[in-house]
Amino acid sequence: MSDMPFSRAALDFVAECEAQLGPRFARIDAIEYENQARVLCALQRQRLGQRHFAPTTGYGYDDIGRDALDAAFAYALYCEDALVRPQLTSGTHAIFTALSGLLAPGDAMLAITGAPYDTLKDAIGITGDEFGSLKAQGVRYMQTELVDGEIDLPAVLSALNAAQNIKLVYAQRSRGYAWRNAISLESLGKAFAEIRSAAPDAIIVVDNCYGEFTRTTEPSCVGADVIVGSLIKNPGGGLAPTGGYIAGKHEAIERIAQRVTVPGMGREVGSYAGGYQPFFQGLFLAPHTTAQSLRTAILFAKAFERLGMVSMPSSMDERYDIVQALRFKSEKPLIEFCKSIQKAAPVDSNVTPEPWDMPGYSDKVIMAAGAFVQGASIELSADAPIRAPYTAYIQGGLTYAHGRLGVMYALDALERAGEIRL
Ligand SMILES: *Cc1c(COP(=O)(O)O)cnc(C)c1O
Repeated sequence: MSDMPFSRAALDFVAECEAQLGPRFARIDAIEYENQARVLCALQRQRLGQRHFAPTTGYGYDDIGRDALDAAFAYALYCEDALVRPQLTSGTHAIFTALSGLLAPGDAMLAITGAPYDTLKDAIGITGDEFGSLKAQGVRYMQTELVDGEIDLPAVLSALNAAQNIKLVYAQRSRGYAWRNAISLESLGKAFAEIRSAAPDAIIVVDNCYGEFTRTTEPSCVGADVIVGSLIKNPGGGLAPTGGYIAGKHEAIERIAQRVTVPGMGREVGSYAGGYQPFFQGLFLAPHTTAQSLRTAILFAKAFERLGMVSMPSSMDERYDIVQALRFKSEKPLIEFCKSIQKAAPVDSNVTPEPWDMPGYSDKVIMAAGAFVQGASIELSADAPIRAPYTAYIQGGLTYAHGRLGVMYALDALERAGEIRL
């Protein structure tokens, strides 16, 4: 392979890993097929046509592209309703918007999967006293920890009994920057059923980032009232240029719509001069893109396991998100690894990522994201907070072939640095 001068040993090594993954890949392909059928149906039900792709401007009254996109997402994610907006600037923004739409001063929220994703700590007001945080607006916050990576149901139920006014129960499906697996839909379902009977009026919200289309169902199928995610992850299919979605029960979505724009205007306004075509096409591609990312993650896991390193999940585990955690001995190979993923990128492959203080994160973070869409982690990307235990989180891969090249780059870099021997 003239363009990619990898060593014979590295090429053989990856081919051998791959040869053992046939049954795993077949399982991923079966999930993709089922999800593709549902997404296809979601678009066909809208009678999607060129008219939905026209740019809109100003207030965006009667924006049929926006409305059809909401409905298509709702169907694809097994929800009654959805808000899908380029104006939601990130997953964090979408989650914060959903929470603030559902919570009033004096209400409490209970997080049942331990500390939420780093960037939400400021937004909720857990760590600081950021102006405008939920806490600053009078919302109380409580959390229960995971035990062995699972929801601690007795602790959740006693928190629900002890505290007054828990209006919202919050679960994070994916691992974030924690050494744990994604919570399975089965575990979420079991917890939600018990929460529902203990606190019938509490609204259950799931941070669904990285989870969409990794299974044939979504948390909405197991009792979640509202699910939220980022369009520059799975459900944007790699094409959505920005944005987030909030999907769920109609009544909850209507309330949140008042926060997405303005009370009284809600979902009636919001235009997009760029047009919604890439969001529709991205949704159409999302089952495939997600499957390509899952295959990439499994190959990374397999290669690192064969080198005697620890991966989570393992190459054999069932997957409920696209993230692959890999543990390194020290800071040096961790950084080396992230740099190699940057080198493997189609964009900015010539720049070298360095650990830096990112807004919203407590430790320095190194991010390899040579992506067409800035920061898009459905594209092959790796990030790592610089703290022990030295763990890199790798995710994405628009095509498996590119993901496979990423594995080659990583092995090559680690071998050159004397960290591994193939
Ligand atoms: C990515 C992510 C978020 C939100 O991140 P943004 O960078 O704001 O889009 C929230 N929770 C989890 C688990 C995530 O992976």
